[in-house]
Amino acid sequence: MNPHILHWSYRDFREFPNELLDHSDTLEEIYLKENFIPTIPKWLFHSFVHLKFIQLSGNLLQTIPREICDLRNLEHLDVSKNKLIELPEQIGQLNKLQYLNASENEIISLFKGIGAMKSLETLNLSKNRLRELPIDVASTSLAELILNDNDLIEIPTKIMSMESLKVLEAERCSLEYLPGIVGDRVTHIRIFNNPKLTHYPTVYEKFLRLHYDYWSENVVSADLLMIFLPDESKRTIVPRQVERIRLDNSPNSLTEYCLRGLYANRPYYEIVCANLVENELPRRIFRCVQYGPICRCGNGECDNMLFTECHFSLMKKNQSPSHIIFSNMFCSKTCLTKWHEVFKAKYHPIDWIHFV
Ligand SMILES: [Zn+2]
Repeated sequence: MNPHILHWSYRDFREFPNELLDHSDTLEEIYLKENFIPTIPKWLFHSFVHLKFIQLSGNLLQTIPREICDLRNLEHLDVSKNKLIELPEQIGQLNKLQYLNASENEIISLFKGIGAMKSLETLNLSKNRLRELPIDVASTSLAELILNDNDLIEIPTKIMSMESLKVLEAERCSLEYLPGIVGDRVTHIRIFNNPKLTHYPTVYEKFLRLHYDYWSENVVSADLLMIFLPDESKRTIVPRQVERIRLDNSPNSLTEYCLRGLYANRPYYEIVCANLVENELPRRIFRCVQYGPICRCGNGECDNMLFTECHFSLMKKNQSPSHIIFSNMFCSKTCLTKWHEVFKAKYHPIDWIHFV
């Protein structure tokens, strides 16, 4: 037997086997998949200082003890297919953890402090009951974020535009709209079967395939800004942070100008973000600063970031049988007009009515 690895999966264990203690000095990897283990004993955390890998998928765990943070060398933790309703925030102290799989549980919300996990590369939370993601996720270096089969309404722009992100899956969720920015390194996005999605920002076009052409029935959400498409008889939802759709070139609000100005100085913006205190700012402003811009102006020649106001455009591809509606947001009517002029051979705009 390899003194560093223990394969005790599929053994019908009803509890964590005490025999493990005989190997506490050497063990680095423990496989206890598909047993009937209901709890993790605290002696595991005190005795196994070399542990790097724990596979506990398919057991009956309802909690993970907070002492998990004592396993300082842990790199891989699989607690999928258990009965967990939450993960302890002490997991955030596992500085070496690269892989965390907590899929197929009953987790409702993700712990705050996940942003401290600088080594985390893969996070799988599929098949849980998540309604939202903490913005802290954007502070990690995640390359792979798997969120299929949850109740998520949105993925914050700041998370979708993470520099490290390569793979994002959020199939069969309740997404109502998509962020207008996708990270430069993203190569793979799967967002099939989100029946409330009515339009896709043009940045997603390269990720879409023909069988993606899925059109939902009229689904409306009460507290979100919507516009109406007369030709399609559809209502479509604008990203949550958009508070105002502008139709002409009149000046933006002072709030919008201030937020753009703050973000234009990125180092300073990052410092402000890191030192935000929730009750010192109006909630709306706090959220705008914390979550960052919703989109870059769709006109590639323009550097403006958009926070609360935009010129919104919906379009379809020319000579395409596809029913997919694409969207784009611009900082001004001038940018919108310029973009459509450049891309008129590829897309044609479709009409919509501002829905109040
Ligand atoms: Zn612009």
